Amino acid sequence: MIIAVDGPAASGKGTIAKALARHYWLPHLDTGLLYRAVGLAVLRAGGDPASAADAYGACGFDEAMLADPALKSEAAGRAASIASAHPIVRAALLERQRAFAQQPGGAVLDGRDIGTVIAPDARAKLFVTAAPEIRARRRHAELVGSGMEVRYEHVLTDILARDERDTARAAAPLRAADDALRLDTSEMGIEQAVDAAIALVEGRRVLAND
Ligand code: C5P
Repeated sequence: MIIAVDGPAASGKGTIAKALARHYWLPHLDTGLLYRAVGLAVLRAGGDPASAADAYGACGFDEAMLADPALKSEAAGRAASIASAHPIVRAALLERQRAFAQQPGGAVLDGRDIGTVIAPDARAKLFVTAAPEIRARRRHAELVGSGMEVRYEHVLTDILARDERDTARAAAPLRAADDALRLDTSEMGIEQAVDAAIALVEGRRVLAND
């Protein structure tokens, strides 16, 4: 069974995807990490993520980078969201994600275009959202918790800019697939959101007679 989890930054989609993978015993891929690795590799090479050539040149990033804690920084997230708008970058990362989704037994993937581009045939597609202020508060707490010094206002501005870039781009913009199930986690704690996500996936399994 393939489960696609899409949504904007800090909506809870990563936590939900991980929990679904545990629940169904499926492998999980956080596709944002691939774009963050490209963004970070561009910055480290002294390039500009807005340059398609620089961003494409970073697509062959060293695999060890996927475990680099710096991927979680706002700088890497911002660079990722700029680099990911280049169609050539998305094309370079496409096969890897498709192969992960198509592995025997299935998989859980989270990102922005899993239900629309990477795995349009996924059994269950969730589109996870939350109000921008709530997402900013969550991301702020996460960053402060990991020892970074950032202001809430700065995180909110960054999230709004990222939403704008991710939804406005021409190549695989952030949007819910027509058959996606929406889950607004604004008023939910983690446990409640995970339970709601499992209930939605179960509904799709029943429909598909899985
Ligand atoms: O999910 P995360 O915040 O780690 O993703 C970082 C950035 O990578 C996003 O803002 C988005 O621009 C890009 N991304 C994407 N497609 C995906 C996953 C992430 O464009 N499937």
